[in-house]
Amino acid sequence: MNQTHQIMEAAHEHRGARLPQFLIDKKQLAEGESFGFTCHPGVPCFNSCCADVNIVLTPFDVLRLARRLGMNTQNFLETHTSNPITKDLQLPMVMLKMKDEDAKPCPFVGDEGCTVYDDRPWACRMYPLGMAIPPARAGEEPKPMYFLFEDDHCKGRHQPDCKQWTEQSWRSDQGLEVQDDLEAGFRDLVSHPWFIGGRTLDPKRMHMFYTACYNLDTFRTFVFESSFCERFDIQPEALEELKTNDEALLRFAFQWLRFALFAEPTLKVKEAAVEGSQP
Ligand code: SF4
Ligand code: SF4
Repeated sequence: MNQTHQIMEAAHEHRGARLPQFLIDKKQLAEGESFGFTCHPGVPCFNSCCADVNIVLTPFDVLRLARRLGMNTQNFLETHTSNPITKDLQLPMVMLKMKDEDAKPCPFVGDEGCTVYDDRPWACRMYPLGMAIPPARAGEEPKPMYFLFEDDHCKGRHQPDCKQWTEQSWRSDQGLEVQDDLEAGFRDLVSHPWFIGGRTLDPKRMHMFYTACYNLDTFRTFVFESSFCERFDIQPEALEELKTNDEALLRFAFQWLRFALFAEPTLKVKEAAVEGSQP
C-alpha cells in the first residue's frame, strides 16, 4: 500500500471503534483550530491524488453517484465498487474501484478535475482532513475527532493563495453539512454500542446491512414487494414517500437496521403480525 492509499483510507475512516493506525501520528485539530489550504486547477499537484487511492464510500455516496450516473444501485455497486475483506472487519465495506490501468486512475477524474464534483464522495470532500469516532460507550454520543494530513505530495498548504479554515468552515465549504444527518445516521449505526467488545454480525445480518445501506433500489423492492408492509405499522403517507424519495428511504433503512440488528424500538410491528408470530 503506498502513501496515498494510507492517507485517503484514513481520511475515510469513520467506522472504526478505535483510532486507525495511520492517524496515530497525525496532527489532531483542537476545536476551532485553523489550517491553511487551497485546491484548484492551478496547484502543481492538481489531479495527482485522484489515482491509486482507497476511497471508502458511505451509503449516501453510493446513492448520489449512482443517481448521477443514471444507474440503479445494484449496477453501480457491481460496476464501480469492490468489497475488501479484512480480518477484523465488523461490517461490510464498499470501496470505489479504480480503473484497471497502470496508473489506476479514479474512473471519474478528467483533465479538468473531478467529473462528478457535485456528487463526489464524502472522503474526497473531507481531504486534507481525516475523521475518527472514538470508541462507543453506552449512553454517550461519540464526538468525532478531526486530523490534518500534511502530505508531501499535496501542495495545497504551500500555495500563496492559501485560505485559513477550521474543521467547521471546511466542512461547510465542501457541502458536507448538507449531508450531515444522513452521514450521522450511518455513523450512529457503525459506532453503535452493540459492537463494543468486537461483536460481529452473522453473514445473514451482514447481507441485510449491505443491502439496506448500499443497495437502496433492492431494499426498496424488499420493502414494497415482500410481506414487509404487512408486518410493520407505517403511516400511509410515509410509505408513499418511501416509494420515490431516496433520502427518506435511506433514513428509513437506518431505522430498520437499528430495529433488526440491535432490537431498538425504531419501528412498530403490527398487532396482527405479532399475533401471527405466536407459536
Ligand atoms: S471521485 Fe472525484 S475527487 Fe474523488 S478521487 Fe475520483 S475524481 Fe478525485
Ligand atoms: S492540493 Fe492536494 S487535494 Fe488538491 S489536487 Fe493537489 S494533492 Fe490533491
